Parts: sequence; structure tokens; C-alpha cells
Amino acid sequence: MTLSHWQSRRDRVNKKVDVVVVGAGIAGASTAFWLRRLAPSMQVVIVDRHEPAGGASGRNAGFLLQGHATSFAEDVDRLGIERATLFWDYTLENRDLVFSEFATAGIHLRETGSVTAAGSPIEAERLARSAELLRDAGRPARYLDAAQAADATASSGYYGGLHIATGAVVDPVRLVQAIVERAGAEVVTGLHVSALEPTPDGCVVVSDRVTYEASHVVVAVNAASGLLLPGLSSTIRPVRAQMLATDPLPIQLNVPVYSHEGYYYVRQLSSGHVLVGGARHLHRAAEVGHEDATTVALQEDLSRYLRTHFSWCASHTVKERWSGTMAFTDDKLPKVGHIPGLDRAVWVGGFSGHGMSMAFLTGRVVADLLLQRSRHPVLDLLEV
Ligand SMILES: Cc1cc2nc3c(=O)[nH]c(=O)nc-3n(C[C@H](O)[C@H](O)[C@H](O)COP(=O)(O)OP(=O)(O)OC[C@H]3O[C@@H](n4cnc5c(N)ncnc54)[C@H](O)[C@@H]3O)c2cc1C
Repeated sequence: MTLSHWQSRRDRVNKKVDVVVVGAGIAGASTAFWLRRLAPSMQVVIVDRHEPAGGASGRNAGFLLQGHATSFAEDVDRLGIERATLFWDYTLENRDLVFSEFATAGIHLRETGSVTAAGSPIEAERLARSAELLRDAGRPARYLDAAQAADATASSGYYGGLHIATGAVVDPVRLVQAIVERAGAEVVTGLHVSALEPTPDGCVVVSDRVTYEASHVVVAVNAASGLLLPGLSSTIRPVRAQMLATDPLPIQLNVPVYSHEGYYYVRQLSSGHVLVGGARHLHRAAEVGHEDATTVALQEDLSRYLRTHFSWCASHTVKERWSGTMAFTDDKLPKVGHIPGLDRAVWVGGFSGHGMSMAFLTGRVVADLLLQRSRHPVLDLLEV
């Protein structure tokens, strides 16, 4: 967003606070939550151009999964067993923290288990290997043959699956709202932050209405990271994801399902609505950038996928269609770093389509880093 000569001359309000968190998605909200826990006397303000959860955090499927959606075997091949296990444990710790803090918060948090279903024989082999690798590493996992996968997911046409007992689901908007509420921070919406400037004691956060002088700053703007901090544009890529929700159908599916190497995901809500998303791999060129829009071709692919694998959805009608912008990194790991040229300013982002499964704990990691407290081992994976 640019500002005209007339707009930028407008008198701005100047405020002094201890910490400004830019971004009221799950990453920013969680950082504010942990700042309050670690340093209760600090005055924290969360600013966002939208309401909390107005970005990806309010537009996702609400899966709280372990590891990546592809497979543990792929993570082991890319990262090695030690780092892949560290990453797995990070998502597990995130999930456990969400349960320990919000189990009774009315956010539809449910321990359902999860299934990654194989869309091809090769994927089935990889999932079988993942089950073995996880068991060898002492992390419970069960390989499902094709018939067992069909049974577990009320589906047909998959070649096998991986069942993880600790998989869970949540209402993502309610989760972010609950985190914001417990963060106890002032939340200022409708503010577009356009620049960060150094001062001798911290940083100035420039927005279209208010200018904040803060001793500490956290930037958690996800896919917009490269717009606010151009140095990050080669690290964080904006990638669009689309979903739809059907009208209610009789309940059949009790677990969240990822399939086709994470390119499709499905769950059914207790209200009967079926949520399905993905199909991005069929429209790679179109599904990049910041535009919030759905396309007919991709939405048809989502319906086709439902009809192919979930016969009980064959004649579904669609209630809502939407899109959201994710932030991808080359190695699919989120990143945390200090902002060059600014003391006591940290950025976080790049959850690569899995922020719900990592960001609550990541908020604690970021708060620790900002306050120079303890260092979580996962920082060795995330810090740039
Ligand atoms: C369709 C879809 C399905 C997904 N499904 C899942 C899933 O099931 N499980 C899972 O783990 N993950 C899923 N994800 C990914 C997950 O939603 C994201 O990884 C996560 O929400 C990222 O959180 P965030 O706080 O980093 O970003 P966001 O939620 O995008 O928050 C960033 C905030 O920054 C604000 N902002 C940006 N620029 C500025 C600025 N200049 N000034 C002020 N404010 C600004 C935005 O308004 C926004 O509110 C999905 C994503 C999508 C889009």
C-alpha cells in the first residue's frame, strides 16, 4: 500500500510502548501471549491492518498435525534423522501446549488422530517407511494398508495411510481469539505498517495513522514479510491456497486427512460441513502472490477430489469458497531472525502451510529470543 502526498502529511498520533507486535495472526498473537507470561510488566501492542485472524490464520483447515504433511521419511531424507525428529517433536510440543493452555477455551479443540493417505503406490511406500522410522525413533505411528486407510477415512482409492494418534483439530479463528484475549495486549486494527526505523533506544513503527516508538518490535506478517522488509522477499514466498466448505452431510469422517503429499486436505466438522482444500499442484502458476480470490478451475478440482475419494460427498453442494495466502520457504521450515539494522527487533514467518501446527510454541521461541532468555533447541532449525 502506498500513501499519497495528502495522506502522508496527515497528523499522526505518536505513542510510546515497550513492544509492538505487527501481525495479529497466530504467530503474532502467540508471541504477545508468551511476552505477557515471561515479562508481565511490559506494555505490548498488537497492530494489524485487519481483525485478529484476518489473514491465513483465520482461513485454514484447523489441522494440528505433527511433522510436515508430506511424510516423515521425506523429512529424514532432507534433514537427517536428528533434525527431522527435532522438527516432529517441535510440532508435538506445540500441540501439547495448545491443549494445556486452551483445552477448556471453547475453541473446538479435539484429539482426533490424523491420517496421511497415499495418492500413489510410491507415496504408500514412503508412508510405510515413515511409520518404521517413527517407531524406531520412539514416536508412535501406524501404517494402514489400503483397506484400513479406506476404513479409517470413510473413503476409497487411496493406496495406504499413516495414522498418527496425536493429530488434532481446532477452530482456528477461535484459537487465535483465545490467544489474543489471554495475551492481555492492546489490539489496534485497521493499521497498515509501512516502515520500521531505528532509534537510539529501539525502533519506530510507522503506520498510516499511528507512529509507535518501541523498545522491542516483532514482525509477524507472514506472506507480507517481503513487502514490509524487502530483504526477506527472497526468503519468504507468497503462495495462495483455496478451500471450500460443503453444506452439511451426514457425519462419516472423524479424522483430518492429508493426501497426495499434502496437496489435498479434508475434514468434516461436527456440524456436518466438509472442508476440503488444496489442488494447488494442478495450478502452480496461478496460485502465487497476494491476491485473495478463488478460481473456477481449482474449485472444480476440489469438488472432483471429494467425489473421487468420498462417495458419500458425491452430490455435495458448496456453502463457502475462500482463499488465503501462505508464506513458503525453500526448505519448508519457518524462519526466525533479527531484523538487520534494528536492535531488539525480530521477525518470524514462513510456516509453509503448517503454521497452526507450530506457531503457538514458535511464539514462545520468539519471545525468548527477543528478551534474550532461554534458547529452545528448535531455534537451531529455524534461526537465520
Ligand atoms: C487455505 C489454507 C489452509 C491451511 N491449512 C492449515 C492447516 O490445516 N494446518 C496448519 O497448520 N496450517 C494451515 N495453513 C497455514 C496456516 O494458516 C499459516 O501457516 C498460519 O496461519 C500463519 O500464521 P501467521 O500468523 O504467520 O500469518 P497470518 O495469519 O497471515 O497473519 C499475518 C497478519 O499480518 C497482517 N499484516 C500483514 N502485513 C501487514 C502490515 N504491513 N501492517 C499491518 N498488518 C499486516 C495480516 O493482516 C495478518 O493478519 C493453511 C493456510 C491456508 C491459507
